[in-house]
Amino acid sequence: MATTAPFATPLYVMLKPASSHCNLACHYCYYLRAQHHAGEGTMSDALLEEFTRQYIEAQTMPEVLFTWHGGEPLMRPLSFYQRALQLQRQYARGRHIDNCLQTNGTLLTDEWCEFLRDNHFLVGISIDGPQEMHDTYRRNKTGRPSWHSVMRGIRLLQKHGVAWNAMATVNAVNGNHPDDFYQFFRDLGCQYLQFTPVVERNGTEICEYSVTPDQWGRFLCGVYDQWVREDVGRIFVQTFDATLANWAGVTPGVCSLSSLCGHAAVMEANGDVYSCDHFVYPDYLLGNIRQQTLTTMLYGEQQRSFARKKTGGLPRQCRECHWLFACHGECPKNRFISDRYGEQGLNYLCEGYRQFFSHVAADMDFMKAELDAGRAPANIMERAGNRAAMESQRTRKESNTDTITDTITDTITDTITNTNKI
Ligand code: SF4
Ligand code: SF4
Repeated sequence: MATTAPFATPLYVMLKPASSHCNLACHYCYYLRAQHHAGEGTMSDALLEEFTRQYIEAQTMPEVLFTWHGGEPLMRPLSFYQRALQLQRQYARGRHIDNCLQTNGTLLTDEWCEFLRDNHFLVGISIDGPQEMHDTYRRNKTGRPSWHSVMRGIRLLQKHGVAWNAMATVNAVNGNHPDDFYQFFRDLGCQYLQFTPVVERNGTEICEYSVTPDQWGRFLCGVYDQWVREDVGRIFVQTFDATLANWAGVTPGVCSLSSLCGHAAVMEANGDVYSCDHFVYPDYLLGNIRQQTLTTMLYGEQQRSFARKKTGGLPRQCRECHWLFACHGECPKNRFISDRYGEQGLNYLCEGYRQFFSHVAADMDFMKAELDAGRAPANIMERAGNRAAMESQRTRKESNTDTITDTITDTITDTITNTNKI
C-alpha cells in the first residue's frame, strides 16, 4: 500500500510586515488593488513572535526560510528586523535560518546594508530594466520616477557586499526590448534574474500595461537567445532554470511552472493567512494565526484543494498539450480565456509559452542529455555559439545577394533611363 507523507515538503509562508504600505505606487501593482481585503496596519511584536515560534516548529526540514515582502518591507524600521532575528534565535532549536527580503530598494541606506550583510540576508530588488523601461510604470505617489533611487540602492548593496538578485516585471513596454533589457542586467553584474509577466485586468478588460501573449513569447525567446550564448551557469534566469528542471523531470523552483500550487502562502500584518500572494481575497482566506495554527491552515483541506486545482482545473487544450510537462497551464491567476474547444480556463499567455517552448526544445533536450551523462548543461553554449555564427554567415550571404541584386537592378534602371534619354 502506498504511504503518504503530508509533511514531506517545507512549509512556506511569506510575510507582509508592513501590509500593503509602500512609498511607491507602481501602475500595475496588484497589491494596491487587493489592499482593501488584506487589511492595513503593521505587524505587532506579539504576532511576530507567534509566527516565528509556529513557523519554526512546523518545519520538517533542518533549514527554515523567512521571506519578508510587501508593500515595501523597509517601511518597517531596522529595529523590527533586529527583533525578528532575536526571536528566530530564541526559537531556532538548532535549525539553520535564512532570510530573504524583497524590496523596491529606494529606502536602502549604509546602515540597512550593513545589517543585511552581517545577517546574511538575500535581497531581491524590484527593477524593470534600464531607466526608460523602469520609469514608465514604477513611480511614487506623486508620479516621480524611481529608477535613480533604485540604482542608488543597488550600488549600496554592491558596495557593502550584500547578496542580491533582480526581480523584474515584464509589461507592455519592456516586453518589446528583450535585448536591451537583458544587456542591462548583465552590465549591472546581476547573477540571478527573475521575471514575472504583468497580466492584470480591470473587470474583463486587460489593462494596457499588461504584456501580450505574443510579446511574452518573443521576449522569452529574445532573452533566451542572449543567455544561451554566453551566460549558462553564470547568470541564473529563473524561467530558464525552471524550464530545464521540468525537462529533466525535477520540480522547478517557481510555482507557476510546477504542477501544484500551495507552497506560496502569505501572512498579512494582522495575522490573516491566504493561500497565495496572488489570491489575497476573502475566498482564499485560510484563517488567522491567532485562532488557528499554521500547520492546520497550510496542511488543511482548503489549501490542499487550492493546490490540486492547478492541475485539476486545466481545460482540454492543456490536457492534450505537448508542452504540458513544461508549462502545467502556468499560474491559475492568468487562466481566463477560452481554449480552442470553447472551454474556459486557458491561460492568457498560452500562445507565448508555446512559442517559447518550441524555440528552446532542442536546446533543452541537449541540456537534459548533458545532465543525464553527468556533464554540465553549460556545454550548450558552444552549440549555441556555432548556431549564432552560422546564422550571421547566412545573414551576410543574404545581404551580399541583396547587394548584388540591388546593383543589377540599379544597372538595369540606369540603362533604361539612359535609353529613354536617347
Ligand atoms: S496561484 Fe499562481 S502564484 Fe499562486 S501558487 Fe499557484 S502558480 Fe503560484
Ligand atoms: S502551452 Fe498553453 S495549452 Fe499548453 S499547457 Fe501551457 S497554457 Fe496549456
